[in-house]
Order: sequence, then C-alpha cells, then structure tokens
Amino acid sequence: MTHRVAIVGAGPSGFYAADGLLRANPELRIDIIDRLPTPHGLVRAGVAPDHQGTKAVARQFDRLLAQPDVRFAGNLEIGRDLTWDELRAAYDAVIVATGMVIDRKLGVPGEAEPLVWGSWRFVAWLNGHPDFRQGPDLSAVRRVAVIGNGNVALDVARLLAKSAEEMAKSDIVPAAAAAIAAAPLTDIHVIGRRGPEHASFTGNELGEMGRLARAVSVTDAAALGGQPPASDPTPERLRKAKNLEILKGFAGNTPGSKPVTVHFRFNAAPVAVRPGELELTTGVLPVDLSITCIGYTGEPFPTGEGVFAVGWARRGPSGTIPTNRGDSHAVAQQVAAWLKQRDPKSGPDPLPPCVNAAGWHRINKAETAAGAAQGRPRVKLTEWPALLEVARES
Ligand SMILES: Cc1cc2nc3c(=O)[nH]c(=O)nc-3n(C[C@H](O)[C@H](O)[C@H](O)COP(=O)(O)OP(=O)(O)OC[C@H]3O[C@@H](n4cnc5c(N)ncnc54)[C@H](O)[C@@H]3O)c2cc1C
Repeated sequence: MTHRVAIVGAGPSGFYAADGLLRANPELRIDIIDRLPTPHGLVRAGVAPDHQGTKAVARQFDRLLAQPDVRFAGNLEIGRDLTWDELRAAYDAVIVATGMVIDRKLGVPGEAEPLVWGSWRFVAWLNGHPDFRQGPDLSAVRRVAVIGNGNVALDVARLLAKSAEEMAKSDIVPAAAAAIAAAPLTDIHVIGRRGPEHASFTGNELGEMGRLARAVSVTDAAALGGQPPASDPTPERLRKAKNLEILKGFAGNTPGSKPVTVHFRFNAAPVAVRPGELELTTGVLPVDLSITCIGYTGEPFPTGEGVFAVGWARRGPSGTIPTNRGDSHAVAQQVAAWLKQRDPKSGPDPLPPCVNAAGWHRINKAETAAGAAQGRPRVKLTEWPALLEVARES
C-alpha cells in the first residue's frame, strides 16, 4: 500500500507540487484534479496568448502526467462534484492549488460592466476559458483605460494595441482577435496611482511596448523625475531604474504617430466611472472602457490536518510561474515528511468519472491540429460541450 495524495488545481503550483512529491517519494499515487477538462491553470487561461515562450512550460507539466502513478482528473470541481470532506476522507493528504482569480474591485462609483471589466475576465475571454465566452463589446470603443502598473496591465494594453498580423502566430481565440482588430481604437491609457519609480512592470514586457507595429507608447517626461526607493533590495532598484530608462525613451515619442497611442499616466487614481469618461484624481479622461489590473482575491478553502496549500492559493496573487516551483517543492517536502509518519488509508478509488490524461491529450491534439491548419500553435476549444465531447472520443 502506498499513500494517495490529491492535488486540487492543475496549474503550475499543482504540477510543481506533484513533481516535488515524486522527488521525495516516487512511490506515491497522485491525482491532479481540476474543475476544467484541461490542465495548466493560468498558463493556459491567464498568460498572454502572444507569449508562447512562457506557455511552453506546459509541456513539462504534461510529461508529469505520463508518470504511471500520476493521474489527471479534469472536469471535477471540489466543492461541487466532491466535497472537501470527501476528499480528505479518501486521500492521505490534500494539497490545495486552486489559485486566486477573482478580480479585485476599484471601489469607485460606476464600477460595473459594460464600462469596467476585470483583467481576469478579459484575459480569460482572449484565452478561451469556457466560463468566459463573452468579452466586452469593442465595436464602438476608441479609448481604453488600463488601470494598474503591473505586467498584467502591460499584457492587456499590448493585446489591444497589437495588429492582427502581430497576433497571427498566437493562440488568441479567433472571435476575440477579430473583435480587437475591428475596434476603432485610438488611445490606450495605462494608469498608475503612484509614480513610475514604483511600477511593478518588468523590463522585457515594458520594452516590448516600444516595439509595436501599429501603436506608439508615450509618457510625460515631467513624471519621470523620481528615483526607486533606496530601501528596496538591489534587484528591485535595478528593475525600477530600467523601467525609468525605457519610459524616458517613450517620453520622446510623438502621440498619434501610429494609429494607436499608448499613454503611460502616473500619480493618478480612479475616482468615478461614467459612460464615456473616467474621473481620475488628476482630471477627467475620455474613455469608453476601463479594464482593471489591480490584483485578485480567491475563494476560501478548508484547512486542517492533512491539508496543505501551495501557489497563489497559499501566497496570494503574486509571483510568476517559476516562483511557484520553489514554493511547491518546499511544501511537497513537508507533505512527504508528514505522510512518512502515517499508515496509508485503504478504500476504493475515490475518483468519479472525469476527464483523464487521455481525454486531455485528445483535446490537445484537436486544438493543435486546428491551429496547424492556420499556422497558429493551436485554436482552442472554448465551449464546455465541445471540450467534453472531444475528451470522450475514443
Ligand atoms: C493575466 C495573468 C497573466 C500572467 N502572466 C504571466 C506570465 O507571463 N509569466 C509568468 O511567469 N506568470 C504569469 N502570471 C502568473 C502565473 O500565472 C501564476 O504565478 C500561476 O499561474 C499561479 O499558479 P497556481 O497553480 O497557484 O494557480 P492557477 O494557475 O490559477 O491554477 C489554479 C487551478 O485550480 C483550478 N481550480 C480552482 N478551484 C478549483 C476547485 N474547486 N476544484 C478543482 N479545481 C479548481 C483552476 O481551474 C486552475 O486550473 C500571470 C497571471 C495572470 C493572472
């Protein structure tokens, strides 16, 4: 008899936890459970569709699913299809890797769809998440405010700003790509409530904003006088100094010199949203749509003996994919040590019928074949019935 571990959430932290468990004890039986019929969490549904290099980590995760004692259990939502108590009773340990993707609110009057969209709902739409098949109506959207100063704000601004040709090799959902290409967009305002010396952008992502075919990035040189806080650790100071250097380059650009202008605005916080305008602490901006990129919260999950959390569910919504690796490996060590002191439970297989790894491979194959026909990495299946039907095909 060997111990049985349930990992709830097939995103990066769940897969890295499985990897860490197998390194600690290759005998363990591991079920990686996800409410979606597809694995990879935000690598599939959050990471921008034009950043295929970042998404490539999914191949490592799929290799884990080929291990004999690792099972994928998709289309199985804990709390709906199985209770957390049932899970705890059936497994020797439960690892919660459910992430954190409820859009945080600005908390200002007028904040509701269709005027204000959360970045998760927006990016999930572009990425084909089956729960978010409706995006904002962009048909009359000329000016967009992207509120936030992290890389998600840059993702959103870039995905709106890129030309159809620049998106041609991505796996953006075709209907979303068509809606963006057809929108009469002229101005995108990236808005930070503090100065640029505090922005959380990283250099590669900010630099990319200076190399877009149909969009020019601009900012006001007067906002760039600050210095990164001296109390910051050196890597943070270097990152922020690099941001300032890139922004100084943007300050020399001419607004309107390309069809779309991306304005980086700092020291401005939203006060109220009204049709056609966004009121900021610095004045009123004509804006047809605002997209908030100000972080996420999550659903509570049970704690208790034998339950361990990893990734965004444990640490909150910050950290990149690689951050989850060290974190999940450390928790996996704790889980393995904890299991060593206990006898394995016995009992029938706890998994109800669900989408297994073979089902996911069928979805993957169908999507990549549809993509190959168009010179894209994949064209995603985005509807629940289609996903489940393809997963079931023999
Ligand atoms: C828009 C966006 C863009 C990003 N871009 C990058 C990037 O370019 N590079 C980078 O390194 N990082 C990026 N990140 C961060 C990265 O995605 C996270 O660090 C990482 O995905 C967190 O992993 P996780 O496993 O904790 O959560 P997630 O990836 O969110 O995985 C959680 C999984 O749990 C499942 N789940 C939730 N509840 C249940 C339940 N009750 N039952 C069963 N399953 C459940 C979900 O379906 C999901 O698959 C981005 C994040 C966002 C939001």
